[in-house]
Amino acid sequence: MTMKNIGVVGAGQMGSGIAQVCATVGLDVILSDITEQACERARSTISGSLERKVQSGKMNASEAAAAMRRLSFSTTVSAFAESDFIIEAVTEDVLTKQQILMSLDAVIRPDAVLATNTSSVSITKLGGTLASGNRLIGMHFFNPVPAMRLVEVIRGVRTDDATFATAVQLAELLGKHSIGMRNSPGFVVNRILIPMINEAILVLQEGVASAADIDEGMKLGANHPIGPLALADLVGLDTVLAIMAVLHDEFGDQKYRPALLLREMVAAGALGRKSGSGFHKY
Ligand code: NAD
Repeated sequence: MTMKNIGVVGAGQMGSGIAQVCATVGLDVILSDITEQACERARSTISGSLERKVQSGKMNASEAAAAMRRLSFSTTVSAFAESDFIIEAVTEDVLTKQQILMSLDAVIRPDAVLATNTSSVSITKLGGTLASGNRLIGMHFFNPVPAMRLVEVIRGVRTDDATFATAVQLAELLGKHSIGMRNSPGFVVNRILIPMINEAILVLQEGVASAADIDEGMKLGANHPIGPLALADLVGLDTVLAIMAVLHDEFGDQKYRPALLLREMVAAGALGRKSGSGFHKY
């Protein structure tokens, strides 16, 4: 499939990053959010990020300016009527996602592909309510999108082969490495990563070792670039808890129970880097 016009719905951290990467490789992008202020914020985030790439010599100034010219903004879904490929990256809430996908379903071209960047909602469930459910796929990017090389490409029960092939093609065009999978709670990376982080929290909760020593242990003993507790602080403890809760609910297996200490820290507002403290202080 020839891809030229990309739509990105939701101009937060992930949507802005996805839009930036698409515009950088020469695609025309429409990025939308609820308000014009949110769109303006995204424009300045992307412009700042491209500016830093110019300063560090990763891109020249005319390439950055050309990428900015390929970006436009909107506050309505009708803007995506001519898009070849639309990526939903709105807030992680099932109802919000279902509403957005249903309104896109009504306006997009009959051959357009719809992707969702959800971290935890079932692709099969999101596709189940759509007329174009065969053209819905999961494309799970990693944060920060311009720096992280992986995209998980997730097939729901109704996703057809052509849609899967088009999503893999887009990931390649964006310079990302993709891995394909069928829909399953946590997909691949979070299913493995988040229980490991939860286990590190249990080790801390039981008083086996200090947070600093647990992180040092996994860095030096398992060759991880960052310790599991520092990584939890980076991801956000609320997000770690939400993903553990999905694994626990969907599999119904006690091995996925979220650590009590994790629940307590989230309840206390200690969410990691974004709140100034988590397992470490910032
Ligand atoms: P965010 O809060 O930074 O951005 C979400 C944006 O969606 C906000 O700007 C919000 O105004 C907008 N939005 C909400 N409802 C909307 C609507 N009806 N129409 C248009 N815009 C709407 O969140 P984020 O971190 O960018 O996450 C977005 C998605 O990406 C979520 O599904 C999340 O699970 C997933 N994700 C996040 C990460 C991460 O590390 N943050 C990694 C992979 C995937």
